[in-house]
Parts: sequence; structure tokens; C-alpha cells
Amino acid sequence: MFGLKGMIDATVQATIIDHKSEKVLTIPLELKTGKSTTVMMHRAQTMLYTLLMSDRYDIEVQCGLLYYLENKEMIRVPAVRDELRGMIISRNRLASYIRNREVLPDMLKSRYTCGNCYAKETCFIYHKVGSIPRAMFLTKKVLTDYSF
Ligand code: SF4
Repeated sequence: MFGLKGMIDATVQATIIDHKSEKVLTIPLELKTGKSTTVMMHRAQTMLYTLLMSDRYDIEVQCGLLYYLENKEMIRVPAVRDELRGMIISRNRLASYIRNREVLPDMLKSRYTCGNCYAKETCFIYHKVGSIPRAMFLTKKVLTDYSF
């Protein structure tokens, strides 16, 4: 229904204990290497996996789990409706730009925001080469040439 694709690391049945209630839920579990537990992209990915699972199993998926292997830290990521809606709208806007081969919106060129953006490498390439088809070819070539 949402047109999302992805590979969930694991689907687990978890007992979620809130203040006074206890629920058994089927939810996605995403495993991450590395220490940083504040990466917004990881939370966004886990949240989007709740939508994938809703589609797949036709159930309401209220949250996902993010587990950092190095720190052994588990984070519960709630499926926040407004945030999910915002991500889907952004994805649709980007897909529309790419499908219609339009130029992308101008870069923010904010040292702070762009400097901390998870998509900065891709964004820089797209804007540097100036056209979406060329950028897509170049991005694929770079990934092919430099992946191990
Ligand atoms: S680097 Fe990130 S924040 Fe900056 S313009 Fe590109 S997508 Fe937007």
C-alpha cells in the first residue's frame, strides 16, 4: 500500500511492559553496528519498517526495536503517525522529481544541517553533476567501483 521496499533484519514477538500494562506485539528488530545511538536515520528506518510490516501482515505495528550491537543498547522506536506521514510525503516528492527528471530543489547550503545530514554524499553528487539521470548513473558507478 505504501510502496516501500526493505529488508527487515528480524521480525520478533516482544513483550512490551509500559507503566501498568503488558502487551505482546509482533514488531521489526533492526540491528546496527557502531556506537552512535543518536542517528536519526536509524530511527526513521525502523519506523518505516513498522509500515512495511503493517503492509505485510495486515496488522497494526505500534513500534520497532533498534539494537546497537557494540553498546548492547536497545531502543524502542514508536511508530509516530505524523512523522511517518512526513517521511512518505517527502519520499513521494523526491520520487516525483526523479520520475519527471526535474531539477532537484536547491540545496539548503547550511553548514550545520547539511553537515549533519545522512544523505549529504548523495545530495552533493546530485547537485554537483546537475542532472538526475547523470547523477543516478554516477552514484551507481561509484557504489559499484568502491564497494567491497
Ligand atoms: S545535504 Fe541534506 S539537508 Fe542539505 S540540502 Fe542536501 S538533503 Fe537537504
